[in-house]
Amino acid sequence: LNYPTAQFLISAPTLALCPDDTGAEVAFAGRSNAGKSSAINALTQQNALARTSRTPGRTQLINFFSIMNDESRRLVDLPGYGYAKVPESVKLEWQKHLAEYLRNRFSLRGLVLLMDVRHPLTEFDQMMLDYADQREMPVHILLTKADKLKKGPASAALQKVRSSLKEWEDLVSVQLFSSLKRDGVDTLSQKLNQWLYT
Ligand code: GDP
Repeated sequence: LNYPTAQFLISAPTLALCPDDTGAEVAFAGRSNAGKSSAINALTQQNALARTSRTPGRTQLINFFSIMNDESRRLVDLPGYGYAKVPESVKLEWQKHLAEYLRNRFSLRGLVLLMDVRHPLTEFDQMMLDYADQREMPVHILLTKADKLKKGPASAALQKVRSSLKEWEDLVSVQLFSSLKRDGVDTLSQKLNQWLYT
């Protein structure tokens, strides 16, 4: 497990201000409250990282973390989508930067898309899948807070999401995840290793 070595690198408001577009990175996206900070904490075994990303003023920035002191291997925490009480014009501005990053970032190897297992495939999620599809970039879906469902309903939810994404099965993988129980962390790590180190 390399991910506990993750360190905050930089926050960028726009693609132009991101670190050099070399090496490899994996980005995390999700609607706000999907459990993104908790998942990053579970993966890295550090509470400070996602807290950094949540510092007021940083929540709408693209936050970069290096792995194993190597700035050419990065985790990227994308702005949470759906935070209430910001003007529409500001939301549109964030969406523009997010789209710009997802479309043009060369070193981006894959997208981890987090969805609450009880409310998967929202309009935002579809939008993220479309960006990934446009550049044939792989997406790994975490169905978060799996501990909130019993085993049967959780695996039913997993199957349902898998079958509704059947046309994209070459590019999309799906797993259950619980930060609370630390379930699914190893599967996630393996996927990240595959994207970042091969
Ligand atoms: P973010 O806005 O996507 O970063 O979401 P957070 O990680 O802050 O989580 C949102 C809420 O869901 C918080 O109240 C968390 O405690 C809760 N939560 C996150 N992950 C889990 C989980 O695996 N299980 C349960 N039961 N609750 C979780």
